[in-house]
Amino acid sequence: MSKNNDELFKNVIGHAKEYGFVFQSSEIYDGLSAVYDYGQLGAELKNNIKTYWWKSMVQMHENIVGIDSAIFMHPKIWKASGHVDGFADPMIDNKDSKKRYRADNLIEDKIARYEKDGKTDKALKLQADLDAALTADDLPALKSLIEAHEIACPVSGTRNWTDVRQFNLMFSTQMGAMAEDSDEVYLRPETAQGIFVNFLNVQKSGRMKIPFGIAQIGKAFRNEVIARQFIMRMREFEQMEMQFFVRPGTEMEWYAYWKQARLKWHLALGTPEEKYRYHDHAKLAHYANAAVDIEFDFPFGFKEVEGIHSRTDFDLSQHQKFSGKKMQYFDNDLNEDGKPFGNYIPYVIETSIGLDRMFLLTMCNAYEEQDLSTEDRKDSRTVLKLHPTLAPVKACVMPLTKKDGLPEKAREIMDQLKLDFNMQYDEKDSIGKRYRRQDAIGTPFCITIDHQTLEDNTVTIRHRDSMEQERVEASELDNIIGKLVSWKNLLK
Ligand code: ATP
Repeated sequence: MSKNNDELFKNVIGHAKEYGFVFQSSEIYDGLSAVYDYGQLGAELKNNIKTYWWKSMVQMHENIVGIDSAIFMHPKIWKASGHVDGFADPMIDNKDSKKRYRADNLIEDKIARYEKDGKTDKALKLQADLDAALTADDLPALKSLIEAHEIACPVSGTRNWTDVRQFNLMFSTQMGAMAEDSDEVYLRPETAQGIFVNFLNVQKSGRMKIPFGIAQIGKAFRNEVIARQFIMRMREFEQMEMQFFVRPGTEMEWYAYWKQARLKWHLALGTPEEKYRYHDHAKLAHYANAAVDIEFDFPFGFKEVEGIHSRTDFDLSQHQKFSGKKMQYFDNDLNEDGKPFGNYIPYVIETSIGLDRMFLLTMCNAYEEQDLSTEDRKDSRTVLKLHPTLAPVKACVMPLTKKDGLPEKAREIMDQLKLDFNMQYDEKDSIGKRYRRQDAIGTPFCITIDHQTLEDNTVTIRHRDSMEQERVEASELDNIIGKLVSWKNLLK
C-alpha cells in the first residue's frame, strides 16, 4: 500500500468510528479481534445496502424468492457440504514472534513485492508455484516456497517458521442443556447451505419452476487465521447469497448472465468502472466447474468483494446422499423430442457477496477530503459522496436561528418529511458547521428555515456534492428528496 493509500485507509477507518459507522467490538475491554459493531449511521447504511441487494434480486426477479434460515443447522449438513473435512486454511507460525499467518497470504505479499520492484518474471513464477501448491493441497510445498523466497515474519523479521498446517475455520459449540445430551453444532460458515437444504420446501410451497433462485441475507462465522484490513476479514460477518437452480447443461449460460448482472449491480451505484475487475479462479473449489471474483480497487489493492460460482449439482447431490431424501426436480417442459425433461438434480449458479466488504467498499469509494481554500481563506471539508439512495440520513432540517419561531417551523417541516425519510434535526452552531457535519456523514440535502420561510413558506435546500443552494417551496420538499433517493434510480 503506498503511503497515500495507507493514510487514506487510516482516515476512512478513523472517520467510520468518529461519526458512528463502525466500532471495534467490546472496545472498553480492549476489543475482540476481527469482530466489529455497526453504530447508529453504520446500521442505517448497512440496511440500505441490504435493501438494494434484496430489491434487485428478489423484487426485480419474478423467479427469485428470499428466505431467512437459521444459523444453527444439523451438523451432518457440514459433513455433506465438505466443510468439516475441507474448510481449512494453510497456516504457519513464526516461532520468534509467535504470530500466526496464512501461508498463502505470506506468499501473495511476496508476489506483490516482486511486482512492485519490477521483478515480473519472479512474480509470475511464484504465482504459478503457489497455484500449483494450493491446487494439490501440498502443505510442504508451501513451506518450501516460503523458505526458497526467504520470506520473513513481518513482526520479528526472522525466518524461524513452523510447518504449514491446515486450520479448520468453523466455530463449534454445544447444543442441549446437559453435557450428556449435548451435540456439537457449528455456527454456519456460509448462508448457502440453508438455501440448499430448503430447496424442495421452497420449490414446492412456492410452485417454483426451473430456472429459479433462492436468496438470503444472514450472518456467517469463520475463525479466520488472521484478521486484516478492518471489516474486510471478520470472524462474524454477513453474506448476501443467491442460489440459482438451472437445468443441467445450461449452467454456463446462466453463469455468464449472473457474472454480467452482478457487475451491473455494482456499477449502478455510479462507481467508476476502472475500480472493478473480474478475476477468474485458477484453482476451482471441489464443487465448482467455473468461478470468478468481482474485485474492487480498495486502498490496499484489488480484492474480492463477490464471488460467482457454478457449483454443479454438488451440494444437492451431497444432501441427497447424506440425508437419504430425494433432492430432485420434476421438469415437465418438453425437450426436442417432445418428451418431458423428467427428474434431475438441478445445477446451481451462486452469487455470494460479503455485506461488510460491500460496506467497506462503499465507504472507501465515497470518502473524499476536499480543499476548498480561496485566496483569502483556508477551508476544507470531508465529504462522503454516498449514492443518495444509500445515504443513512436523507436530509437535515436546520432553523437559521434558535428564536423567532424558526425552530417550531423547522420541526413542522421535519415532522412531515420523517414519515418518508430518515431525517436529522440540527440547530446547534453556525450553518456552515452544520453543513460540514452533514457532509461528513453523506447527507444529500440540508434544508434551512429562515425568516422568509415564515412569510412565504419557502426554504433553502443545499446540495451535498455541488454545495449549491436553491430556494424552493416547502411543499415541494417531499418531491425533490423523493426523486433523488428513490430506489428507481438504482433498479432501473
Ligand atoms: P476470501 O478468499 O477473501 O477468504 P472467500 O473466497 O473464502 O473469501 P466466499 O466463501 O466465496 O469467500 O464468500 C463470499 C463472500 O463473502 C466473499 O466474496 C466476501 O465478500 C465475503 N467474506 C468471506 N469471508 C469473509 C470474512 N471473513 N469477512 C468478511 N467478509 C467475508
